[in-house]
Amino acid sequence: MKPESEWFTPAAFSEKDRAQQSPSLDIGSIPEAAEYVACFGKARNLNRLSHLKNLKCLWISGINERQFESLCHVQSIDTLIVYDLRVPNMTGIERLKSLRCLIINGNTKTLTLDPVGELQNLEHCKIENFSKVKRLDPLGRLLKLRSLSVQGSIWTAMKISTLAPLQALQDLRAFSLLNVRVQDGSLAPLKQLRKLRSIEIANFFCLREFAELAGSHPLAVGDSLLPRISVGWPCKQCGSDMVMLARGKAPFLCPKCQKNEVDEHDREFNRIKSETAAQLERSA
Ligand SMILES: [Zn+2]
Repeated sequence: MKPESEWFTPAAFSEKDRAQQSPSLDIGSIPEAAEYVACFGKARNLNRLSHLKNLKCLWISGINERQFESLCHVQSIDTLIVYDLRVPNMTGIERLKSLRCLIINGNTKTLTLDPVGELQNLEHCKIENFSKVKRLDPLGRLLKLRSLSVQGSIWTAMKISTLAPLQALQDLRAFSLLNVRVQDGSLAPLKQLRKLRSIEIANFFCLREFAELAGSHPLAVGDSLLPRISVGWPCKQCGSDMVMLARGKAPFLCPKCQKNEVDEHDREFNRIKSETAAQLERSA
């Protein structure tokens, strides 16, 4: 089982990601044969990117609308990693037909992921800090997706209506949902994704949702499939590791000082989990 981080980091990128330390400010100085480029959106000669015939992987930071237009012509790339995209309308990105991996870290201007939904060859997709986006429907059209990560910003949760569109992603192996609040409160759409093996979901759902998800995916790994996780600091009274229960709300509890509440939670979680697993077996 690959760790989650590998699902989201294509090999071509991880080998060369040290180049991020010094993104280019002039594409004119980049060798003709370059396969990987890290640059700023404000780099000079940005249009030259589309003439680098071997370019496969592009890491780029700080993009306005004019620079985005240039980016959408770099048709050779299979991996695009963008930081700080400041573009209300992402139309044009669908021209990048070879894209298999797309990571966009921050676009607080756009209202919709529609253009991303046109990238039919995408296998890995991570979007983070799209604060105005309320619907994931376009992502549900990316039927080749093997890994998907949707995240709010560090400070603010993303608010979306439902995970239902993701039910169509039957090839999905890894799914991550961090700092995202889902209005219908349901993880049920993920239960039918039989190939999921890595699941990471922030503690924003109720006990039953987490327990049913765990029961539906006996082969998957992830903290969100456990009844509780250690939070990494000791109880002030007894020194035991404090825990957070999978039930969508604080507070943190001490498994010794608040033994009854923690045990009761574990029992209920495991009861629902087993019940769901048994149902699944009967229907198989
Ligand atoms: Zn204690």
